[in-house]
Amino acid sequence: MSVGESLENFVDGAWVRSGATEQIEVPDPSRGTTIARVPRSGAADVDRAVRSARAAFGAWRDVPVAERARLVLALRHRLEDGAEELARLVVQENGKTLDEARGSVRRGIEAVEFAASAPSTLQGSFLEDVSRGVDTTLIRQPVGVVAGITPFNFPVMIPLWMAPLALVCGNTFVLKPSERVPLSAAWIARAIADSGFPHGTFNLVHGDALAVDAILAHPGVDAVSFVGSAPTARHIYTTGTAHGKRVQALAGAKNYILVLPDADLDRSIPAIISSAFGQAGERCLAGALVVAVEPGADRVVARLAEAVSRLTTGVASDPATEVGPVIRADHQERVLRWIAEGEKLGAKVVARGPAPAGGGGYYVAPVLFDHVRPEMSIAQEEIFGPVLGVIRAGSLAEAIEVANRSRFGNASAIFTRDGKAAREFVHRIEAGMLGVNIGVPAPAAYFPFVGWKGSFYGDLHATGRDAIEFYTRKKVVITRWF
Ligand code: NAD
Repeated sequence: MSVGESLENFVDGAWVRSGATEQIEVPDPSRGTTIARVPRSGAADVDRAVRSARAAFGAWRDVPVAERARLVLALRHRLEDGAEELARLVVQENGKTLDEARGSVRRGIEAVEFAASAPSTLQGSFLEDVSRGVDTTLIRQPVGVVAGITPFNFPVMIPLWMAPLALVCGNTFVLKPSERVPLSAAWIARAIADSGFPHGTFNLVHGDALAVDAILAHPGVDAVSFVGSAPTARHIYTTGTAHGKRVQALAGAKNYILVLPDADLDRSIPAIISSAFGQAGERCLAGALVVAVEPGADRVVARLAEAVSRLTTGVASDPATEVGPVIRADHQERVLRWIAEGEKLGAKVVARGPAPAGGGGYYVAPVLFDHVRPEMSIAQEEIFGPVLGVIRAGSLAEAIEVANRSRFGNASAIFTRDGKAAREFVHRIEAGMLGVNIGVPAPAAYFPFVGWKGSFYGDLHATGRDAIEFYTRKKVVITRWF
């Protein structure tokens, strides 16, 4: 495909032109040059994809689960074979460094491996003699047509959290990937088709909010799995449920890292730096704020400042780059505005990474703020860029109290050598994914991805057994034979 052409949707086993009249440019964030165009698909395109998924559902749900799992294994082999190519696509369209991109592809493959265990994980239960001669069986069946709506920051991992598991549970699927990273999604669509999934079981519709709103209103969609920013998540949850759909909506974050005076700084500082500045801070598990517990906050700030002042920002594909670009020019401006806002509010920039090397891309040199106060907007709002703030606290109890004031509750971490303090943190902190001396507490694919508070809307989380529950409906059969 030349850059001039718009990407095609994938419907009923074929690549098809969208009826869209508008196209969205896709720049390489490292250079600002256009690498693709996506159609702004509308209601007619969504309807076509949903009808295809609906039509395929009847036969697909009757395919034995072991056969469905074999197709997932075939997909896993394709992903393994193409992992490097896929990682390089992520570098190009998302701006992750190659190591970061490789890691994210690996995490996606883990989710596919979990999906392949469906013959075990889909099993129901049976209880004999609930009453004399009466038995009860619980079985799980697919929900129907599932739509997946995904963000820009994990172009491979998040679609792979959703589609393989939804499919292996017997559902058919429509993916609406982020319009900012459509190339990885197209790669995944080809891999799914080449793995032998029947026509119509997996469909791909490119586009933006226009396509999403058509999905939310479409009566042929039974469930919506969403990952993205907080305002969109709220909209997806309220609109989707108002249309009678099952919805899980993973939202934004503001994650606190508590550092106690006894923390092993030689090992903690690199983990905190990687949490805050890895993937240019565009990670829902990124540490956005350090709460440094006295005595010792000065020491923590000095060590963080030294590390931040050395972080190299530049073109994502350059092996020397530690911090790649952010996703778009408007996001770059937004992050820079947040930095200016922090200074205006009285927080102090104590370190800034060297000026970015790359030209034409969307770079933000990493920034460390000291003397952030919990009530400041830079401590409350998600910045989603390479910016770390330090709040000082007098005790562990105060640090936990500060972190719990956040309206978000995705992740939190503590760095300490004190087991009792770590236990207190785990017990009291109001967030769902916790790290003890781990900066990015990302659950493996066989555990749920458990955001709390404003970081999640719904009941059943993505990944792990929660996701199996989300992608299935239960039946309870009570049997007596005369
Ligand atoms: P986003 O909300 O802008 O977009 C996500 C998806 O929703 C895209 O497919 C987009 O096309 C669509 N969309 C955007 N605006 C819409 C609207 N008004 N109506 C309907 N659909 C709309 O999110 P993003 O910027 O792509 O992703 C970054 C965000 O995702 C961050 O806030 C991050 O914290 C969050 N995130 C959360 C998790 C988690 O597990 N909680 C994981 C990854 C990312």
